[in-house]
Amino acid sequence: LRRITLSIDTLDAIAYRRLSGDRGEVGEVFAAIDAATRAGFSSLKLNSVIMRGVNDAHVLDMVDHFRGSGHVLRFIEYMDVGTCNEWRQDLVVTSAELRERIAARWPLRALPANYGGEVAQRWAFADDGGEIGFISSVSEPFCGDCSRARLSADGRLYTCLFSNDGHDLLGPLRAGASDAELSALIAAVWSSRDDRYSEIRGSTDTSQRRHVEMYEIGG
Ligand code: SF4
Repeated sequence: LRRITLSIDTLDAIAYRRLSGDRGEVGEVFAAIDAATRAGFSSLKLNSVIMRGVNDAHVLDMVDHFRGSGHVLRFIEYMDVGTCNEWRQDLVVTSAELRERIAARWPLRALPANYGGEVAQRWAFADDGGEIGFISSVSEPFCGDCSRARLSADGRLYTCLFSNDGHDLLGPLRAGASDAELSALIAAVWSSRDDRYSEIRGSTDTSQRRHVEMYEIGG
């Protein structure tokens, strides 16, 4: 294990409970951050999905809290993943808008990508208060550079977060496929993919399409 990413969409206990569908407490996330830090993960990625009128008023508090902690808060534009998150375009707060709000309080400077195809745009606080990231999946789609493969618990390989179906890996695995055969199968699936959902979002092609649920593929 080389990296841990956690999700935290607000510091507010009541809003957190509501956002988690009454299944989680923000205190549990803080406990997880402490445990990971004690285990030697001094720079966690903390993902935060922001929705207009829901938690966008909490953004500056979150930035203030994690600035200087060594952890990297990353704001992800609210996406129409799955079929039950009641996504609406007007609830999306773009990265550009968030960055402007944050920079008005803590000036930012752009950082280069760590590697080609990195999904988050990196920014540093000008006063050396650390780094934050923005993942602009809706306003600036990056399907051409995407490497978001996901494996579901039932052994299906999804090549896009918005796929309506995955490719069966469990069958070949149970039938005794070797590592080399599985590797070749994954390579063949990946090299033939043509996913570009975020680039064509809203077109007639996509509006009726079922999307895999995020809980099936682990976010
Ligand atoms: S829409 Fe699909 S292909 Fe495009 S960036 Fe998202 S996961 Fe990748």
